[in-house]
Amino acid sequence: MAQSDRSGGWKLRVWYRKGKGKICDCYLVKCGCCNNHIKIYYDDESLEINGVNANVNEWRNILLPLLGSKE
Ligand SMILES: [Zn+2]
Repeated sequence: MAQSDRSGGWKLRVWYRKGKGKICDCYLVKCGCCNNHIKIYYDDESLEINGVNANVNEWRNILLPLLGSKE
């Protein structure tokens, strides 16, 4: 069910799945308005977003400036 956020966009729909054995913990993040989604697997050292795997520091370089710029 689509839910709008306060700024007129859509709220992300998020599912969490606990990893088993060699499979890491996983977030499934779905667009609020359609079926587009990303899958994020992660462990202590690395993060895989939609099949793109890199060290968390790599992701931090890209994502932190994006996420922090609006505060
Ligand atoms: Zn959408």
